[in-house]
Amino acid sequence: ESFLKISNLSKTFELGKNHVVALRSVDFQVQQGEFVAIMGPSGSGKSTLMHILGGMERSSDGTIYFEGKNVNHLLFNEPHSTRFRREKMGFIFQSFNLLHGITAEDNVALPLVLAGVKKKEIVQRTKQLLEFVGLYERRKHFPSQLSGGQQQRIAIARALIHRPALLIADEPTGNLDSNTTDEVLQLFEQMQEDYGQTILFVTHEPTVAARADRIIYIKDGSIEQEWRQHAQFEDE
Ligand code: ADP
Ligand code: ADP
Repeated sequence: ESFLKISNLSKTFELGKNHVVALRSVDFQVQQGEFVAIMGPSGSGKSTLMHILGGMERSSDGTIYFEGKNVNHLLFNEPHSTRFRREKMGFIFQSFNLLHGITAEDNVALPLVLAGVKKKEIVQRTKQLLEFVGLYERRKHFPSQLSGGQQQRIAIARALIHRPALLIADEPTGNLDSNTTDEVLQLFEQMQEDYGQTILFVTHEPTVAARADRIIYIKDGSIEQEWRQHAQFEDE
């Protein structure tokens, strides 16, 4: 039984009399602890796939199984969906999406504050994650006082604070230069090693995708090709 199983996933956008098919019967599986890159040209459906997995967009057809259960209803029906996403998924975006009026450490802590976690635990978990991303010394800085790479590392700490089962990232290195891209990828590799973190991310950069265990290549809304790069995740 796989950790994440996408079955026959389709999405059509209706635009008045016209429609755009963004995903066509997409099928794939992700194993626990796997680091998977989704690649493909602009307009191929990558963001739509991420948005559906994140509950931000509704699919037209198909099923998403997560930890063995059909979670279609959990992804889209409030109020369960908010809690499900908060507890099970972490998100990272190309544009970091940090709050600019509060410090780095408050950005990291915010999801726990909103969830009503006890102060002592918030302080401890925030410190642990700031150390993990190598920015504990900068915890009092505001996002504008940090470089792009540092902002993304803060966003990663925030995304991990709930210990999500699945980390979803949409072009996480899209705004970064090659050095900071490498820092972010090293963090991904480290979280996979340290926490067994399962990661699914979109990129259009082949050198970034090459760091994943597996690459899924999407074109015109369909999976065109898959490459498995690391032997430990060979099919059983
Ligand atoms: P990618 O992330 O690979 O660039 P997208 O998932 O953003 O691709 O888009 C896939 C296709 O769906 C494109 O043709 C795009 O124009 C279309 N599309 C995406 N979002 C919407 C939307 N909200 N309304 C209408 N069409 C959309
Ligand atoms: P990205 O791939 O970085 O998410 P896009 O430009 O593909 O950026 O999409 C930005 C936003 O616009 C997304 O929320 C997407 O759903 C929406 N979008 C993309 N294409 C269309 C479209 N043709 N019509 C309406 N909305 C769109």
